Amino acid sequence: GGRAPRGSLSPDSSGSPRLRKPRYRVVLLGDPGVGKTSLVNLFAGVQERDPLDQHGGGCLWGELLQDHLGDISLPLHCLQVGNAYIIVYSITDRDSFESASELRIQLRRARQAEDIPIILVGNKTDLVRCREVSEEEGQACAAVFDCKFIETSAALQHNVDELFEGVVRQIRLRQGGKKS
Ligand code: GDP
Repeated sequence: GGRAPRGSLSPDSSGSPRLRKPRYRVVLLGDPGVGKTSLVNLFAGVQERDPLDQHGGGCLWGELLQDHLGDISLPLHCLQVGNAYIIVYSITDRDSFESASELRIQLRRARQAEDIPIILVGNKTDLVRCREVSEEEGQACAAVFDCKFIETSAALQHNVDELFEGVVRQIRLRQGGKKS
């Protein structure tokens, strides 16, 4: 007799991500309002598509943790659980850009022995006339901090796929092709 536990998810409705293949934790960091939630919502769409699963990697978007930046210090667990980090700022908000640099420094400090993928994201590129941070500044910052950089618009879904694929690529590069 198959008694389903009360409150369990129906496996065929949307599928329970927790029962699926190995997953990576991608942690989004950044000031409030920069677009983390919007990007997470788009991640959920990509998870369905699972573009890299055909390569047998079980490369699914797993838990996407958000961390709003209150003080400039992060809860320790946020710095420890991620397989990859996406540091988001808004190109319309210079303060959020400054915060991104702080976050990058903290991440490096917390996990300096590890080579963790970090991607710096300048979001809201659709708000052209409100831009406070140039693309060149973003690139320069990423170069200094030795991480990848991309500008996105969650609103227009511009470069969002590229961001996801870039994160996956970075994780897989480190897991599969360790060089010494
Ligand atoms: P969070 O606090 O970092 O999670 O930011 P949210 O995802 O909640 O976004 C904050 C506000 O910015 C919301 O009103 C979003 O609709 C808006 N927003 C997020 N991404 C974009 C974007 O790419 N372009 C524009 N124009 N608005 C955005």
